[in-house]
Amino acid sequence: MSTCTSYDQWLQFLDFIKKQCSAIEFQNWFSPIKFLNSTDESIELEVPNIFVREYLLDNYKETLSLFFPKKNNGDLAINFVISESQKRTKCSFKIIQKPKLEFNRQYTFENFIEGPSNQFVKSAAVGVANRPGKSFNPLFIHGFVGLGKTHLLHGIGHYIQKNHKKIKTKYITTEAFINDLVNNLRNKSVDKMKNFYRNLDVFLIDDIQFLQNRLNFEEEFCNTFESLINQNKQIVISSDKPPSQLKLSDRMIARMECGLVTYLEMPELETRVAIIQHKAQQKKINIPNNVAFFIAQHIYNNIRQLEGAVNRLGAYCKLMNLEITEALAENLLSEMFEYKPQTKISVESILKSVSNVFEIKISEIKGESRKKEIALARQVAMYLAKDLIDESLMKIASSFGGKTHSTLLHAWKKISEKIKIDNTLQKQIQIIKKNLEK
Ligand code: ADP
Ligand code: MG
Repeated sequence: MSTCTSYDQWLQFLDFIKKQCSAIEFQNWFSPIKFLNSTDESIELEVPNIFVREYLLDNYKETLSLFFPKKNNGDLAINFVISESQKRTKCSFKIIQKPKLEFNRQYTFENFIEGPSNQFVKSAAVGVANRPGKSFNPLFIHGFVGLGKTHLLHGIGHYIQKNHKKIKTKYITTEAFINDLVNNLRNKSVDKMKNFYRNLDVFLIDDIQFLQNRLNFEEEFCNTFESLINQNKQIVISSDKPPSQLKLSDRMIARMECGLVTYLEMPELETRVAIIQHKAQQKKINIPNNVAFFIAQHIYNNIRQLEGAVNRLGAYCKLMNLEITEALAENLLSEMFEYKPQTKISVESILKSVSNVFEIKISEIKGESRKKEIALARQVAMYLAKDLIDESLMKIASSFGGKTHSTLLHAWKKISEKIKIDNTLQKQIQIIKKNLEK
């Protein structure tokens, strides 16, 4: 099929599109396109980069086919030419010309051991690394310290460096970003810095919680963020809290929530054992399986500590020329160990005990009522379940009448704060715990 392919037709297309999309979208995606030439069979357009082409084809294929010629097989007959000047000039900021990626060599996807607690987050990270800017944007990863957030951010960086060589990626901690901004303000080179960050394709920013209470920096960060997102550039953020719990502006929180928010939790026992074995193997330490189990049973809040235990055990045994046994591990690592009550505690037993102490029916605790005393009993039950049961948060939450892990986490945080100031609540919780250990 042949439609009109003249320059006029191109202008008509632009007029049509202008009415269809926002001014910013038009400015970002359509203004930079140049009409080069056309024949009866095809049209040639110059685009600044491959993303503009992908964006057009992903979002405006049908509109394009109303205006421009198609091949016999129905495909659009548009030749996209990547702009030469863009290829050459890019940006004068020195890091752009010589992208230097400094990722921890160990923090690769291959070295990230999967289990039910982190599988979803890992596949989201792999998805983003495979198709930056096209799957989840921004990807927000939150979780407590030592659970692998930085590892995954570096993993994305490694993967992109290896598989998409031309993509400009920058990993930075929020603290380093702020320092960078301070230095550039001092040297009056903020524009260069802005130019640098806004020309990235992938921006990996670690520990965003450090942006809290830094009003001046938050605004600059938010502008950078918006500029990148508007160009469909990939952003990945890590944090120790979910966006809604960060003390940042509503604008910033809304931006961070509009992609995919994921949560890393402590891996279950089997995964912890696998992590111990993996770390031991990397360091050529031979840890018998029963010892790995023993360590994993007693360290369950932080993978960095798990790693520390492997290192200490390995170093000691090499120095002393000893074999690694459970008794030796207990001796050497006991101060790192955390002890949980021996009796098996379940969500059901917690509900029963909370129900007794608060005098509220189990069905009400599991229900949806927002009455103050019921909601408090529910939050206490969730708080205890998170602390006392060695299961994934998702699984525990579902035992509360199908609640989500973020509800559980929210309840845990709320009660943790409340017991610091509420003596009665503190006592009630002590009684429930005592009853549970009987
Ligand atoms: P965070 O940034 O969340 O505080 P890190 O990414 O620094 O945590 O991880 C702490 C340590 O634990 C790192 O050495 C990392 O390699 C290791 N680690 C975390 N999760 C895993 C995992 N799933 N598999 C293997 N190692 C892990
Ligand atoms: Mg970290």
